[in-house]
Amino acid sequence: AVKTAGKRNYRFYDRGFEEALRARIQREAELHRAIARDEFEMVYQLRRDLGSGQLCSMEALVRWRHPERGQLEPAEFIDLAEDNGMILDLGALVLDKVCGQMAAWRAAGVELVPVSINVSPRQFNESAVADQIARAMERHGVPASLVEIELTESTMMGDTREIAGSLTAIRRMGVRLLVDDFGTGYSSLAQLQRLDFDVLKIDRAFTREVDRNEPGRIFFRAIVTMAHALEMLVVAEGVETDSQLAVLRELGCDQAQGYAIARPVAADQVQSVLAQQATGAAAGPRA
Ligand code: C2E
Ligand code: MG
Ligand code: MG
Ligand code: MG
Repeated sequence: AVKTAGKRNYRFYDRGFEEALRARIQREAELHRAIARDEFEMVYQLRRDLGSGQLCSMEALVRWRHPERGQLEPAEFIDLAEDNGMILDLGALVLDKVCGQMAAWRAAGVELVPVSINVSPRQFNESAVADQIARAMERHGVPASLVEIELTESTMMGDTREIAGSLTAIRRMGVRLLVDDFGTGYSSLAQLQRLDFDVLKIDRAFTREVDRNEPGRIFFRAIVTMAHALEMLVVAEGVETDSQLAVLRELGCDQAQGYAIARPVAADQVQSVLAQQATGAAAGPRA
């Protein structure tokens, strides 16, 4: 952008802008290299059913093992990858990585729960995401019944016919569909009704309120009622305390995820955490 702007305009750029631009270009180059070399790994966070107490799923969350800066969380690179389209390659990498990991666990005799994978809006809009999911499962021999896909409400803002097609295709394979971070985006209730989702994950901004004030409880209960009427299960995200857990049970929330259940753990810890958590221990190891 600097070059095409020409010398004449150069003096209008302040130092801050130039530095920000240079930093961005460098981060983009790093991210590009990271995808080519696969510097990513997944951590996994359990989800528990509040009725039966059983573990029902775990969410795969991406981490970047940066050669100089150590382990980076998605907040440091997902937005950039979304902006420049690299999320398409990263997303494909994640699908393959998770399915490969699941195959390895199964080969090692691990009693698996379904694994939930985040898929970005751009993957839905710009790639044959249903095919990608099907091929990743096939490549590693992972049954569709063990795979869940999470998408945020913003995904449904795209070309709705095409997205609805992809969602239907994914669901027909037997993969469950989850709405992520519900309450923070702009999906309409009509869309929720029309598209066939299995699970509604309520954003932690709402979980936070349930044991603090009556409006928070009323709001949460209303979402639960609506979700159940649409035959969806409800997950509370970001559950951090036993007090929240107690109120969530009262409100009819089906499942919970968050530090009160377990912290995300590395792949090689999953087997032991599954065994330990299956006995109903309240919290996982501190990450
Ligand atoms: P998300 O899908 O809503 O994932 C839940 C996030 O909340 C995770 O952050 C998790 O570590 C964090 N969390 C879980 N329990 C608690 C809690 O009790 N308290 C608090 N304060 N936080 C909790 P993380 O791993 O940093 O991921 C952030 C977001 O990055 C995810 O939000 C998801 O939108 C995105 N993301 C992660 N992995 C992927 C991926 O493989 N592909 C794509 N497209 N996006 C991803
Ligand atoms: Mg985090
Ligand atoms: Mg998620
Ligand atoms: Mg979420």
